[in-house]
Amino acid sequence: MKVVALSGGVGGARFVHGLAQVLSPDELTVIVNTGDDFEHWGLWISPDLDTVMYSLAGLGDEVQGWGRKDESFVTLEELRRLGAPAWFRLGDRDLSTHLFRTMRLREGASLTEVTTSLCRSNGVGPTVLPMCDAPRPTRLDVPGLGVLDFQSWLVTHRGPAPTAVLLGSPAPEPSPAVREAIEGCDLVLIGPSNPYVSIDPITTLPGLTDLLQARPVVAVSPLIGGRAVKGPLAEMMPSLSGRQAGNEAIASHYRAFLRALVVAPGEAVPGLVCLETNTLMRDLDDRRRLAEETLRFAVQT
Ligand code: GDP
Repeated sequence: MKVVALSGGVGGARFVHGLAQVLSPDELTVIVNTGDDFEHWGLWISPDLDTVMYSLAGLGDEVQGWGRKDESFVTLEELRRLGAPAWFRLGDRDLSTHLFRTMRLREGASLTEVTTSLCRSNGVGPTVLPMCDAPRPTRLDVPGLGVLDFQSWLVTHRGPAPTAVLLGSPAPEPSPAVREAIEGCDLVLIGPSNPYVSIDPITTLPGLTDLLQARPVVAVSPLIGGRAVKGPLAEMMPSLSGRQAGNEAIASHYRAFLRALVVAPGEAVPGLVCLETNTLMRDLDDRRRLAEETLRFAVQT
């Protein structure tokens, strides 16, 4: 079975880590949001790609959900001393990824090629693909603050409710590898990622909605009890969707292609095929169990 998973950072990475425990490497392709990518200290940073890669490689800091485990911050502190901006925490081990990526991009490699190379070196089995090779920066319009770059919105301002999410426009083409992966798969799973800032940047690339409509698409809700496990999703939903944070709003948001939704117990959406199960992934066992149950459900649906 060929499975494509769409993913942002923390929630998506936890879920695809579970999928990688139950699918063989050639059965799983992960398409990752690059709308959060940005340049910092002259380096090209791809936060969601790295979170997914570190998670699949077993190198991630599972407590905070991003960055490397066993990390040190000597370079950051030295740069802070020199007066460089230190609001975005890049660790010493993590820096090697950004240095390598930036070096290879400057040499003319595509982001897809660099990602494949990094994943191979880190022992990642499944295929990990950036959603596209050209930059597509997401920005947010926030009352009183104006239009903010993604990292300024999330890290500096801590994710205040926006009135609009501005996905980079005109949207670049998805990479050929992304199209081929979706065209050739049996099932698309949308991880429990933020629909507005992690999944929309992927699904609104030219032609992708049509491709998704031709495939069975099952999503895992990022909400439990109407709240996000981590991050500002619940606070964003009323101003962006006009609805209270909940699975109805998630289902409605994905209605163009969604076949079924995986939700926490007692949180099914009337009129939609739902699997009710524990969707909180505290450890690897939770991830594996949720992946197994989601795959079984998706195949039957
Ligand atoms: P990021 O925002 O770029 O880090 O990436 P994501 O959009 O993939 O992750 C954020 C989302 O993950 C939030 O909306 C969380 O609610 C969700 N999330 C994180 N951990 C879990 C979990 O264990 N279970 C579920 N269902 N959602 C989770």
